Amino acid sequence: MRVLVTGGAGFIGSHLCDLLLAEGHSVAAMDNLVTGNRANIAHLDGEPRFRFVHHNVNEFIAYDEPLDAVLHLASLPSPVDYLQMPIQTLKVGALGTLNALGLAKAKGAAFLLASTSEVYGDPLVHPQREDYWGNVNPVGPRGVYDESKRFAEALTMAYHRYHGVSTRIARIFNTYGPRMRLDDGRVVPNFCRQALAGEPLTVYDDGSRTRSFCYVSDLVDGLYRLLLSEESDPVNLGNPQEMTILQFAETVIRLAGSGSEIRFITPTDARTKDDPQTRRPDITRARTVLGWEPRVALEEGLGATIAWFRERV
Ligand code: UDP
Repeated sequence: MRVLVTGGAGFIGSHLCDLLLAEGHSVAAMDNLVTGNRANIAHLDGEPRFRFVHHNVNEFIAYDEPLDAVLHLASLPSPVDYLQMPIQTLKVGALGTLNALGLAKAKGAAFLLASTSEVYGDPLVHPQREDYWGNVNPVGPRGVYDESKRFAEALTMAYHRYHGVSTRIARIFNTYGPRMRLDDGRVVPNFCRQALAGEPLTVYDDGSRTRSFCYVSDLVDGLYRLLLSEESDPVNLGNPQEMTILQFAETVIRLAGSGSEIRFITPTDARTKDDPQTRRPDITRARTVLGWEPRVALEEGLGATIAWFRERV
């Protein structure tokens, strides 16, 4: 296949490029490098089946070559980033998705949207199944991300139903691994950086909120299986092993061999406004339709991630 990956220099995008190349496909990674990083794909320079295209997907995408698939991963998924860049976040979910869908339609290519567990908002149903419509505050600080992804899903289904584009929607839950930005503000890079530097781990509020963390190799395997499937309804991709943020902090400290303490803080900015209290994917659909489930245990994946961060802190 000839595949275009938007956000291809980002954390998940770059791992997806690696997998697609390993499977024998040709890959173009498109990125405007706002949060993506050229270093994430530097090892692919010189690979004849790979090329990098520096472009902002919010602008019309002129692309001369044929394409079999457009995988739309360009996004600002860190709450700290989308609080700082709210308009860009809305634009890439709306205009970026429109341009990427338009390109897929013009090329007769399949389209895959990287959506998010944030479409469920602060969920009133637990664990989250794909048929849950969510609990999102449209005017809260997270609304810029959540609503842009909900709009992106609606747009994707409209192109599917009205234009007959072959589409997929992956709802990605918290994912971690090497190539996360050290300063992106999310809990995994924050805690790893703090533990490795011997600084206190900043657990927000009382640390009782829960998340479920999926290692990036499992996640991109799920995205690839979804692409190869014919499933146009949304599919949750994530690891159902749930823990509190306090438990997660303790795990990072232990695996990093760190002497850091835990510090409970209450952010005074909007960072924790509408912060989901609980989050865990129901992955029955992914298991059934894709034959997929995560294989990398937290200790293993976090060990590899900490080792990667250790060289960069
Ligand atoms: N969090 C925390 N300390 C940090 C960063 C995040 O306690 O230094 C919490 C945050 O409030 C949330 C959870 O960890 O409850 C996951 O946050 P993250 O920013 O990774 O992404 P989210 O899952 O909210 O999109």
